[in-house]
Amino acid sequence: MKRILTISFVLLLICSTALAYVGNRNTRKFHYESCNSAHEIKPSNRVHIETRDEAINNGYVPCKRCNP
Ligand SMILES: [Zn+2]
Repeated sequence: MKRILTISFVLLLICSTALAYVGNRNTRKFHYESCNSAHEIKPSNRVHIETRDEAINNGYVPCKRCNP
């Protein structure tokens, strides 16, 4: 039972990481964390975004490359 709980916890962690977004404070665009453009954002302009709604509500526009 403990083992199953550990596995589900790890899976949950993987899923939440995969769905995280990165915003660019400078261009006001947001990306999937896996997007190449997201990797090019300067650390000073990089904003971590949990959900798509959060990005839209903060005035971010989806990236045309990764289409989040
Ligand atoms: Zn992108």
